[in-house]
Amino acid sequence: MKIARIGLHNYEEPVISGKGGSGTIFFSGCNLKCKFCQNYEISHDGKGIEIDADTLVDVAFYLEDLGAENINLVTPSLYIKNIAAALRTIKVKGLKIPIVYNTSAYESVESLKWLDGLVDVYLPDFKYSDDILAYNLSRAKNYSSVAFNAIKEMKRQQPKDVIKNDMLVKGVLTRHLVLPEESLNTRGVFKKIAEIDKNMLVSVMAQYFPTDAVKGTKYDRRLTENEYDEAIDAFFECGLSNGFSQDLDSGIKDYVPNFNLDEVKAILKTCSKRSGN
Ligand code: SF4
Repeated sequence: MKIARIGLHNYEEPVISGKGGSGTIFFSGCNLKCKFCQNYEISHDGKGIEIDADTLVDVAFYLEDLGAENINLVTPSLYIKNIAAALRTIKVKGLKIPIVYNTSAYESVESLKWLDGLVDVYLPDFKYSDDILAYNLSRAKNYSSVAFNAIKEMKRQQPKDVIKNDMLVKGVLTRHLVLPEESLNTRGVFKKIAEIDKNMLVSVMAQYFPTDAVKGTKYDRRLTENEYDEAIDAFFECGLSNGFSQDLDSGIKDYVPNFNLDEVKAILKTCSKRSGN
């Protein structure tokens, strides 16, 4: 596995970040190639440091001791088998905080089954109902049905959302990033989410900002207030009612994590000293 950041993160939904911050581990590489990706240097360019499953176990306990509210595995899909192996050890060793699996939802049901009983909170991002758009912007084929089936499987594994002390400790929180000029896609995503479960906890995200890869296209701007309001209207019109909205000014680059590999190396050194390896 390759990782590019370890640390407490305060910019997730309040039920994920809480007071202490979410204990994020950012994995390098991604099975989507989104043109608007904010983490381009790790998702597309593969910047990162190789670790094995035992090191991942050590990192999880390091973050727990640091005060993390949960262990948040960000873009983990490429390493799902190794992650499942690490999670089995983590459970046996008695980690007390929840495991969050933070994914683009472009996952097969078969591989998600490896995580059954190991993940407490699924955090899938349901990006597209429009498969042509999914291919044009993220190079993903049949995205909508793959994501639909994946989220259904996540819901099967964690059917009931459990909130304790204002934190989501079990369940599924589905995200959707609203894109400029794509209100029909957003409405289609909400319809599909409602088909899975009308009570699904949904985060309607406004934090889109353009990258160099979309320069000169219709996506080369932030969302307008009208577009975001339209998305919120669509959310309710599709029968959904349970979720989070975001301020429009959240689309600023300051929220993009800093991927400093020297920092990662220093933390890995500390983890290895702690475990005596
Ligand atoms: S799924 Fe997320 S991490 Fe992967 S390329 Fe798309 S925006 Fe980037």
